[in-house]
Formats: sequence, C-alpha cells, structure tokens
Amino acid sequence: MEKPHAGTIDLRSDTVTAPDRRMRDAMAHAVVGDNVLDADPTMAELERTVASLLDLPAALWMPSGTMANLVAMMLHLRRGDAFLAPRDVHIMVDELGTAASLAGGMPMPLAHDAGPGRPLPASVRAVCPPRRADYNELDITLLCLENTHNAAGGAITPPAEQKDLTNVARECGLRVHLDGARLWNAAVALGLPPAALTGGVDSVQVCLSKGLGAPVGSVLAGSEDFVRRARRIRQMLGGGVRQGGVLAAAGLVALDRIDQLADDHEKARQLAAGLGELGWPVNEPETNIVLAEVPDVPSAIARLSACGVLASEIAGRLRFVTHRDVSWSAVDDVLARIKTSQLSGGSIAPDRKSKLYQVKG
Ligand SMILES: *Cc1c(COP(=O)(O)O)cnc(C)c1O
Repeated sequence: MEKPHAGTIDLRSDTVTAPDRRMRDAMAHAVVGDNVLDADPTMAELERTVASLLDLPAALWMPSGTMANLVAMMLHLRRGDAFLAPRDVHIMVDELGTAASLAGGMPMPLAHDAGPGRPLPASVRAVCPPRRADYNELDITLLCLENTHNAAGGAITPPAEQKDLTNVARECGLRVHLDGARLWNAAVALGLPPAALTGGVDSVQVCLSKGLGAPVGSVLAGSEDFVRRARRIRQMLGGGVRQGGVLAAAGLVALDRIDQLADDHEKARQLAAGLGELGWPVNEPETNIVLAEVPDVPSAIARLSACGVLASEIAGRLRFVTHRDVSWSAVDDVLARIKTSQLSGGSIAPDRKSKLYQVKG
C-alpha cells in the first residue's frame, strides 16, 4: 500500500495564494467609501501607490487582470484593428477571445525570435504598417507585451530590450500595452524597481492576486486621460465596486511583500534543479515558473496528482508555479514524492529529445 502523503502541494498557479491573518485584519479595518458614487479612500491610496511604483500618472483598480487587459484593449483598439503580441500571451490564449469578441481586435502573433517570450524589434518593424495606409490595408495599431511571459516559463524581457520594442512600436505609430500580471516578479528577479519596466508603454496592468496573496484585484495604469476613460469602460462592464476599500486594503498589504517574491524564485530554482537531477527536461527558471516537456501532459498531471502534487498545463507543457503558500520543505517533498512515484513503476517519462531539453544544454 502507498504511504499516505502529508497533504496536497498545490503548484498549479501562484493565484492559489490565500490572504493571511495580517491581510484579513487589514481588510477588516479598512476605511471605506462608495467608490462608484464619489470615492473610497483606501482604493484611492492603493491606486496612488501603484501609479507611483510604476512611475505612471494614474492607476485604476480592477476586479481581475482579464478585465484590466480587456479595458485597455477596448481603449486602444477600434473594431477591426490588428494588434501584435508575442505568441501565446495570456491576452491571446487565456482570455476567451475577449480581445476579438469584445474589443474588436485582430491578433497577429509574433515569434519568440529573441528568446523565450521575446520577439525581436526587427520582427515588429517587419510588420510595421505603412505611414499612409491604403484604403484596403489593415490597421495595425497596438503592440501588447507580457513581462514576465507566462507560457514561456515566467520569462523576463530585460528593460533595454523592452525599450527597443517600444521604440520601434512608436516609430511605427503603434500604442503599447504591457500585461504585467507578473511584472513584480520580473523587477525582483532583475533587482530593479518596477518602474524600470514601464518606460515607453501607454498602459500596464499588474496583478495583486498572483503570488502576493490578495484574494482579488489588478491595477491598470496609464495617463490621467487613459485612466479617466478606463473608469468609464470598467463601469460599462460592470466592474465598478462600492466599498472597494476592503479589497484595496488587501492590495496594499500585497504590495508590501513584493520583495518576498525572491523566495518564490529560489524555490523554483531548487525545484528545477531537483527535477533536472531526476532526468526531467526543465527550463532554467528566471522567476517562479518551472516548465517540463513531457510526452503526455494530462497523464503526467494525473500521476502527479495521485502522489499529492498539483501541476497544470500551459502551451503543451507541464507547469509548476512556486509561491508563498508552498514552504521550502514542501519543495523537497515534491521532489521526494516524484522520485518515489518514478521508482514505484510507470515513470512520468520525460522526453529527452525535447527542444526544451536541448535548449537547456
Ligand atoms: C493571470 C494572468 C492574467 C489575468 O489575471 P486574472 O486576474 O486571473 O484575470 C493576465 N495576464 C497574465 C500574463 C496572467 O498570468
């Protein structure tokens, strides 16, 4: 009989991080107002704090990253406009087609030809719309970036490279939206302030509910005028909240622990190193996401789940995400359980010939 395991270790996503006592206390004691009627002071404080962290003029709380991205797309695009984005970004593959169905945008994916998650500036230039489009030519009006790039394994686009991309976008007359759901992770891993990654963008969305423990919330930032218009669209979509201060209070606690994301990155390195020793083809994580290329992802997920380890699938790969609610010893436990399960027959059979394995070198 298999030994029972101590408990399930959930590495499906950093969204599973739950509000702790300190956060719940802050929520319980939040000063609130009616944020739709006039203003909620705690919400206003959160928005000012994020705008300042990102070095942008204004910011607006949103119920989710998906809604923040949608509102940005609705403001940047007219129906039938095309937008460029690196292949497999969340906006294209994980938001149920809202960029097209609700914002009217036509996606044009860019190859990751500068590295994982990163298109070359030359690739943006190659599809640069002509200055005076002919009457029958497509209007390409927006470049969407994602930093870190989730499906590419939490991959960072360094600030200089991101600046090159935004510069080319500007020269081509494109606006730029940055999906920074995990911008904090990129900044912490680079040892830079988050504002180092917002130069040249028109709008950016950041998540409070990924890795930082807030139960809900993202923030969309940009110019004063952009945020004024974003507030109207948020209201239109039903995203206006009344006593939002209760939620913003959680966000303020979340912001206070951005630096602690460094631990998640170290845990991801440990996990990847351990998996590597067990013969798994894994990426070298830049942040908190470990990808493994296995022949049959759903069956690997099922086998892992049977030994109390929850993982997920992304872009055809197996994904483990480390976060604050998984302890250092739980990382060791994951490796021990995987080892045991492989020894007990029917291995999860990494595909040694995979591209990922070769890239790792
Ligand atoms: C999670 C995520 C989002 C969406 O955030 P939700 O709050 O889950 O809607 C957007 N972009 C990226 C890259 C994400 O990982």
